[in-house]
Amino acid sequence: MSSNHSSPSHRRFDPFFGDWVIFAPIREERPDDYEKNKHLECNSEACPFCVGHESQTPPSLWVGKASNGTLSTIQREHSGQVLCNEDWKVRVFRNRFPAIPTTQQSIHDKSQISAVSPTEIVGGHEVIVDTPIHTDRVSETSINESRLLLRAIRDRIAWWNQGKNIRHVTVFKNCGASAGASLHHSHCQLIASDHYPKQVQGLLNRSRLFTKKYGQCLLCNETYAELEDNSRTIFRGKSIAAYCPYASRFPMQVRIAPLDHQAQIEESSSDTLDETAMVVRRSVLALQQLFPNIAYNLVFSNLPPRKKKYALSFHWSVDLCPRSSSIAGFEIATGNMINCVLPEKAAEMYLRQLNLNLID
Ligand SMILES: [Zn+2]
Ligand SMILES: [Zn+2]
Repeated sequence: MSSNHSSPSHRRFDPFFGDWVIFAPIREERPDDYEKNKHLECNSEACPFCVGHESQTPPSLWVGKASNGTLSTIQREHSGQVLCNEDWKVRVFRNRFPAIPTTQQSIHDKSQISAVSPTEIVGGHEVIVDTPIHTDRVSETSINESRLLLRAIRDRIAWWNQGKNIRHVTVFKNCGASAGASLHHSHCQLIASDHYPKQVQGLLNRSRLFTKKYGQCLLCNETYAELEDNSRTIFRGKSIAAYCPYASRFPMQVRIAPLDHQAQIEESSSDTLDETAMVVRRSVLALQQLFPNIAYNLVFSNLPPRKKKYALSFHWSVDLCPRSSSIAGFEIATGNMINCVLPEKAAEMYLRQLNLNLID
């Protein structure tokens, strides 16, 4: 990435994290001796996520199919049939190596809850494979796969949000070794648990204070301010906007959010989800064209279950966080991120690339 020498280091306040981000464009020019983006083993023969290898993973909990342009989805009930065939485009199953072992029984069955010790974590960890093809390139996947991914995320979040002990559900994608991925084949993960992250409560509190003070949701406010300013906007559609946030914590970060106030992705119409799928897809495609081996995270932010009192001040969104730089000593010591690419420059680069692409 090339830098802008005319921009001195400065800081910008991030109202969502309640902290500052330091912008240091000069650091883009640093020499780098370390090999970035370690190549992940790319062997489809041994890949449990590839089509035809369904028996190598736990049974499907959710399956999305596309036939003649029509999308269909099936979610397995507790005692339902195992969904196992080879005509899927997106499928969801339990993670074989979970951060939190699945305890679906205890969250849906009251009689089992008392048996859970306070030190245990209740919840589950699922894998959402978003293409049957062995790839991490969005250019090799289809728009229908992207649309089905958004439906899978909506349905699985809704399912977990009904769990009696579930307090938080996170959905994210790690793509590339330096973003935390261990497998090359494109996939997202969902972690649901009774653990309530302090950072999330901090965000809810700051959002509610903002709404009390200004009568508007924090993200609605940011989105419309970004669209009006226009120097960091990369997309404005019927129901979705995308921009490089003013206080981006990561170089080339993109935030994608519905234009109408919606606290949870479960409230979104299929049209809004389809537009989200298209914008996420175009943004990742542009990023992978600009920096072919870049690692990235996609992070979905959604109002947690049983937090309806924050529904007017919290707004769901997706952040694309490219991982061209590592979290290092300064960030660990202070919690402040250093970003060496100004979001105005990032937006310019995305816009130039998006204008070259006329695909779905
Ligand atoms: Zn594969
Ligand atoms: Zn809002």
